[in-house]
Amino acid sequence: MRAVAVVPGNKDSLHVRGDVPEPAPGAGEAVVRVLEAGVCGTDVEIHQGLYGTAPGGSPYLVLGHENLGVVDSAPAGAAVSVGDLVVATVRRPCDEPCRPCAADQNDMCLTGRFRERGIGGLHGFMSERYSEDPRYLVRVPYSLRDVAVLLEPMTIVQKGIEQALRIQERMAWDPRKAVVVGAGPVGILAAAALRLRGYEVTVAALEPEGTFKDRLLDEAGIDYVSTGRTPLSDLKAKLGRIDLVFEATGSAHVVLPAMQLLGPAGVCILSSVTGGSRNLEVDVATWNREMVLGNRLVFGTVNAARRHFESGVADMAAAEERLPGWLGRLITRRLPYTEAPRALERSPEDVKTVLEFA
Ligand code: BGC
Repeated sequence: MRAVAVVPGNKDSLHVRGDVPEPAPGAGEAVVRVLEAGVCGTDVEIHQGLYGTAPGGSPYLVLGHENLGVVDSAPAGAAVSVGDLVVATVRRPCDEPCRPCAADQNDMCLTGRFRERGIGGLHGFMSERYSEDPRYLVRVPYSLRDVAVLLEPMTIVQKGIEQALRIQERMAWDPRKAVVVGAGPVGILAAAALRLRGYEVTVAALEPEGTFKDRLLDEAGIDYVSTGRTPLSDLKAKLGRIDLVFEATGSAHVVLPAMQLLGPAGVCILSSVTGGSRNLEVDVATWNREMVLGNRLVFGTVNAARRHFESGVADMAAAEERLPGWLGRLITRRLPYTEAPRALERSPEDVKTVLEFA
């Protein structure tokens, strides 16, 4: 069958190949026909040779972790049936297994020896079909057919917010204002999820005000600030006490200014996997003093557990009900998978590019 693949470690190696073996489902596994796969920054980094590993013995890695498909075959009594619309989770547990992996929390793996489909050690979903254990398949209602390929990035948001709210149970908290830094798919979905929870949300990103993302966010009752006009360091004075910051730019130099936006007892969620290395000179004494004297909290979050896929489905359904068609506008480009190399080219107004397989 055909698939979109890369040779991990080799720069610009993305290609479409026709010699990928058909899935050979193990006992209890389902076969899923892929409908769509989203392209994300991680895929671009893998294509650039900066990230990613092929499964043992394979010279290539089938790319793709943002996915949507339909069950083609499933064993009798499985949790999914033929015809179900499904999204697969990304990570698989380490083989030790560590305590979180043993407790179905492989997104919190302690050994680092987990594998991720389409990223590290396992083929991904940019192929015509794949096989999978149904416990990693999440059913999605057909009412979300046109937007469900956005579920995986939505799970990053769900996990970040869930963890922040759990951590903040440390106090009687009354969060009102949230700032999302970055207006890529994760940033926009984070803003939407926070708005659904009643926060006053401001997104700060590079693009000028009045352009597509600003208008899109405005329709959802979310403010937009261009950091070209208002640097992050001025945002605190403009907005007052900021209770929650969601950093989703992918850009290392934004991380510190994002943390510094936090108001007293605020929580900052770091979700960017920043590539390379970047050195900065930082006034640690002031930063630490503010952290300590203000009970501020910063934490990192990656990947997501099954429950975040389920809460993501609920949020997407709520967003569709509140603003029908809005989520779908985040998909700014759909291309046949045979044109995958073009999917990596990006313009500032692009939000999400999706490859179609069927
Ligand atoms: C994916 C996560 C994954 C992370 C690190 C992200 O792009 O959405 O599922 O854990 O990359 O590999």
